[in-house]
Amino acid sequence: MQRIVVLTGAGVSAESGLSTFRGGGGLWDNHRVEDVATPEAFARDPDLVQRFYNERRAKAREVQPNAAHTALAQLARADGVHLTLVTQNVDGLHEAAGSPRVIHMHGALDGALCAACDHRWPAPLVIDGSTPCPACGAKAARPDIVWFGEVPYHMDEIAEALGQADIFAAIGTSGRVYPAAGFVDYASAQGATCIEFNLDASEVAQSFDDHRIGPATQTVPAWIAEVTG
Ligand code: NAD
Ligand code: ZN
Repeated sequence: MQRIVVLTGAGVSAESGLSTFRGGGGLWDNHRVEDVATPEAFARDPDLVQRFYNERRAKAREVQPNAAHTALAQLARADGVHLTLVTQNVDGLHEAAGSPRVIHMHGALDGALCAACDHRWPAPLVIDGSTPCPACGAKAARPDIVWFGEVPYHMDEIAEALGQADIFAAIGTSGRVYPAAGFVDYASAQGATCIEFNLDASEVAQSFDDHRIGPATQTVPAWIAEVTG
């Protein structure tokens, strides 16, 4: 049994038409990340933050998974492979491609979270200041997304999978956002072979054993054919 951990980032969804963070300054669809993806931003201007995520949620529902998402769904079902698929993405494209289990370490656009009581429920298309929590009634709904400064989800489970991995593959992630950017060093220290898939070398490229440079829709299916072939 080959144990494989895959970490995906915004780059895996780029060819589906969802924008990544652009440039070192961190713009996401023309917004500065600190204006839309932090608890401070939400406290300062909740309407702007809700609008930003409502737009991302609407856009994510319009697009289709691409060949990289599809190949990863096939990898999960391949004989002799145990796959743990971890994503930093908040879109649902891995699920749309048929991946049976996806660990959303940064949450997901299709989830709503009550800031008053921590209840979670499926997000309506639009969340705003008048959306009531179905559990406590508070008008404190927010996207169930892990903002900068908040603690990512499922870290114990991810660490356990990384510790047992034969192969760690990072796909379309810039290596700028921790703790995900540190997964390669952890997996490598535990004995995994580490492969990076990106258009260019990422910030943490030197930690990987192998680099597949090019668009994920080409490099990822080719690698999965090698692994399963
Ligand atoms: P990032 O935007 O910082 O980096 C994307 C990386 O993907 C870059 O290194 C880029 O070179 C690479 N890339 C772009 N197109 C590619 C392609 N076609 N094939 C292969 N690689 C490609 O993304 P990140 O590292 O995931 O960090 C951004 C954070 O922002 C994440 O935590 C995530 O929560 C959030 N985010 C999510 C989405 C989404 O859900 N689709 C989109 C933007 C940002
Ligand atoms: Zn509540």
